[in-house]
Amino acid sequence: MAGQARIIDGKAAAAALRAGIGEEIAAIRASTGLVPGLDVVLVGDDPASRVYVASKEKLAAEIGMKSRAHRLPAESSEAELLAKIAELNADDTVDGILVQLPLPKHIDTGVIIDAIDPAKDVDGLHPINAGRLASGKASGATLLVPCTPLGCMLLLKQALPVLAGLEAVVIGRSELVGRPVAQLLLQADCTVTIAHSRTRDLASVVRRADIVVAAVGRPHFVKGDWIKPGATVIDVGINRLPDGKLVGDVDFAEAVAVAGAITPVPGGVGPMTIACLLRNTLTAFQARRG
Ligand code: NAP
Repeated sequence: MAGQARIIDGKAAAAALRAGIGEEIAAIRASTGLVPGLDVVLVGDDPASRVYVASKEKLAAEIGMKSRAHRLPAESSEAELLAKIAELNADDTVDGILVQLPLPKHIDTGVIIDAIDPAKDVDGLHPINAGRLASGKASGATLLVPCTPLGCMLLLKQALPVLAGLEAVVIGRSELVGRPVAQLLLQADCTVTIAHSRTRDLASVVRRADIVVAAVGRPHFVKGDWIKPGATVIDVGINRLPDGKLVGDVDFAEAVAVAGAITPVPGGVGPMTIACLLRNTLTAFQARRG
């Protein structure tokens, strides 16, 4: 008989995470007079990026974090952006630097990310941070890991008391989501499979999983009959249908009847991403200032 999965409420989890960070910031301010600072650099006027940057500023301000947005014109050169990053790297009041992606095509994203001080890289994309995560040697307290994967892990830990030994299948191997989430699952002692567009018989690979993380970018791609009954499903996908509706990579209506727990879209992983950016900024502040 079909059941009904528990819905993992990312909106509530993100609000609780932000509230906790706000309390830590208040305590830091009271004892040291210092306030962690997040600086976001936006090049150009991509409408979606403008909305993301504005909500980062708003949520940072709400929890008492200092935040500044640096808006550069779309025609800024790579050298100009590098100069801005050098300025922020050298500024001791800046704890976290985030360059909003995507950048205009004439700027090499890799060159820009490489230029960010790894200790201030709150997006967790600098090769030093990605390498630390992949080596499994860095400790959680100081490691800056990409925000969406971190959000997935926090939701998973809330849904499952023990992750060790579970079979996890991650669909997608992007630098931003699939790879780092797989590394974090491995660090949590899951048995991890990374699936991608060349994976054979994906449905049967997914059917093995106690944990499914879908980061594909295709609406309703993961079907209900791919899910092992009782599995926990984390849907990272954000896809806009022609009618304007936002849906995930998982066919929610089918999967909710089979899974044990599942994140909705919207209201699942999405809200966790900015909350984890704020978490990373606090982590960077604490690591830099001991
Ligand atoms: P991406 O860079 O396009 O990567 C997609 C991955 O899916 C690739 O590794 C690709 O495999 C794999 N894939 C594509 N078609 C497949 C198929 N038919 N079978 C199996 N695997 C397939 O996307 P991304 O940046 O990781 O993002 C994934 C989704 O998450 C998007 O919907 C994005 O909007 C969303 N997202 C959400 C948040 C959030 O805050 N919630 C943050 C970031 C991204 P190959 O490597 O073989 O091409």
